[in-house]
Amino acid sequence: MAKRDYYETLGVPRNANDEEIKKAYRKLAVKYHPDKNPGDKQAEENFKELGHAYEILSDPQKRAAYDQYGHDAFDPRARARGGGAGGGFHDPFDIFRDVFGGAAGGSIFENLFGGGQDPNGPQRGDDLRYDLQITLEEAALGCEKEISVTKPDQCERCQGAGAEPGSKTRTCATCAGRGQVLTSRGIFSIAQTCPHCKGAGRILERPCRTCDGSGKHERTTKIKLRIPAGVESNNRLRSSGNGEAGERGGLAGDLYVFLQVKPHEIFQREGDDLLCEVPVSFIQATLGAEIEVPTLQGKATVKIPAGTQPGTLLRLKGRGVKSLQSNGQGDLHVRVQVEVPTHLNSEQKNKLQEFAALCDGKEMPLSQGFFEKAKKFFN
Ligand SMILES: [Zn+2]
Ligand SMILES: [Zn+2]
Repeated sequence: MAKRDYYETLGVPRNANDEEIKKAYRKLAVKYHPDKNPGDKQAEENFKELGHAYEILSDPQKRAAYDQYGHDAFDPRARARGGGAGGGFHDPFDIFRDVFGGAAGGSIFENLFGGGQDPNGPQRGDDLRYDLQITLEEAALGCEKEISVTKPDQCERCQGAGAEPGSKTRTCATCAGRGQVLTSRGIFSIAQTCPHCKGAGRILERPCRTCDGSGKHERTTKIKLRIPAGVESNNRLRSSGNGEAGERGGLAGDLYVFLQVKPHEIFQREGDDLLCEVPVSFIQATLGAEIEVPTLQGKATVKIPAGTQPGTLLRLKGRGVKSLQSNGQGDLHVRVQVEVPTHLNSEQKNKLQEFAALCDGKEMPLSQGFFEKAKKFFN
């Protein structure tokens, strides 16, 4: 059965805030509560569905994941599809776990602390790192990227076994498959890597021609990454199963993609907000004007009120970066840079002098205040 949209379940718009979600949940939870509807299967279903919807939408991380990927974000089958080695989209759930600084995934710890495991048993492949530069637009709006990674993958010819197809593999007789031999030194016994099988525990009758018995083969794989809107420098994405191939049937490692956002020519980013400096002529600032400013979503018109001072910040709500943690969107702050004209001709200069002669100082709000204070300071 297709799952209903969680917002629909709660009967709230997609931009509902936490309070609205909580309210809607409470109202419906009372309505469908099993105590109130004894024996009503549909009410029970609704109540369960409501619980799921609230669990996701009341948690900023889960809600962001849901907004980005829908039900797939929490569907283990969708995760398995993304987790296969050799391309495909990576697991959206992983991104969120990593971007939000959660546990780095159990597998790493198993790898680091999984001592005492059978040296001849399956071994997980190493994790790999990939550094990816993206533009501010890509970080702010989200994007899909295809990267090429050259890494040791499972050898196709021998399926990672290391043995030439059709040939036999036998257990090493010297170490009985343990990969280690014990040597006596006086009263001590020292375990050493088996010299016969070099620790592999098995002897290949004929090593695979492609990988020379290693079971791995360097290959370049194209991997598609879906980068969610709102990422910033040093965020990392995890692409499950796209690390180095495992050994003896072990799982592949993961690929960690470290993001670096390139500086932008026009916008500076501060959290989810963007800052942009826009030059305005002293005449526009004095008389007021409407100017066009660039935003990530195209041009926008901004009204400069008459008498706008240099450095004034004007806010364009919702024209910043989409928040990764919540459903919100940052703002664009436009900083007014009042431009002083240069290279005036004599006629222009004369007109300004005529203007100056008409002024009595009351036109200048900043200097009035400043000289008042300065007077007090000198007294
Ligand atoms: Zn051996
Ligand atoms: Zn091979």
